Amino acid sequence: IMEFRHVEKRFDDNVVLKDIDFTIEAGKFYTLLGPSGSGKTTILRLIAGFDQPTSGEIRFAGRRVNNVPANQRQVNTVFQDYALFPHMNVAENVAFGLQIRGVKKAEIERRVQEALKLVQLEGYGERAITAMSGGQRQRVAIARAIINKPQVLLLDEALSALDHKLRVNMQTELRQLQRQLGITFIFVTHDQEEALAMSDQIMIINDGTIQQSGTPVDIYDEPLNHFVADFIGESN
Ligand code: ATP
Repeated sequence: IMEFRHVEKRFDDNVVLKDIDFTIEAGKFYTLLGPSGSGKTTILRLIAGFDQPTSGEIRFAGRRVNNVPANQRQVNTVFQDYALFPHMNVAENVAFGLQIRGVKKAEIERRVQEALKLVQLEGYGERAITAMSGGQRQRVAIARAIINKPQVLLLDEALSALDHKLRVNMQTELRQLQRQLGITFIFVTHDQEEALAMSDQIMIINDGTIQQSGTPVDIYDEPLNHFVADFIGESN
């Protein structure tokens, strides 16, 4: 459903992405894995439409979308800090994307309940955001991002603020949610264990270049170069 063709991104003289080429298929769980500063967030921003490539082409369903603004793409993002509205309750946060699109009240209520159920927060609608734990806020952010049924959900370091135990639980939950919804998830992390545990496909990036892409088994068994072998072999 989406492809990058020879995508390059520069900030002034700084080449942040070099000749990036990949194809994203519908309904799969992808992980962009790489060290800090490798270009992961920049790729997500180009997919979301928050920024444009310097050269090359981004296509959705075969159509060039380089200049299509974020609100006209079927892509939503879950940010690392969740970016929730602290003065609104849980249900109001989740409903936000539908309200600004003028969806009717009864329909909004039905879909908010449905989304809260999917992230296992049934009955929490009236709670203040400030009364929710880190893991619960994370679930609210996911409910808000899936409510208008995007084709692609981007998750930028979405679990890194959680403690280890919760993080492992959320890995399983996210994976189940992705299967249940059948939409494409693109998950960004610098944690190779997380990537190996969750993904259908992993793209390993370093210094603005994709070093290898493949299934966890492919990458684990046959790393293409030293960078991949070292990075995958590191322990946390
Ligand atoms: P992290 O895991 O630390 O978030 P990342 O892999 O997501 O890292 P990016 O945030 O994509 O990396 O950044 C890649 C490079 O691009 C970095 O060297 C960064 O300094 C540079 N960069 C990103 N955004 C800008 C910008 N708006 N202006 C100038 N340079 C930028």
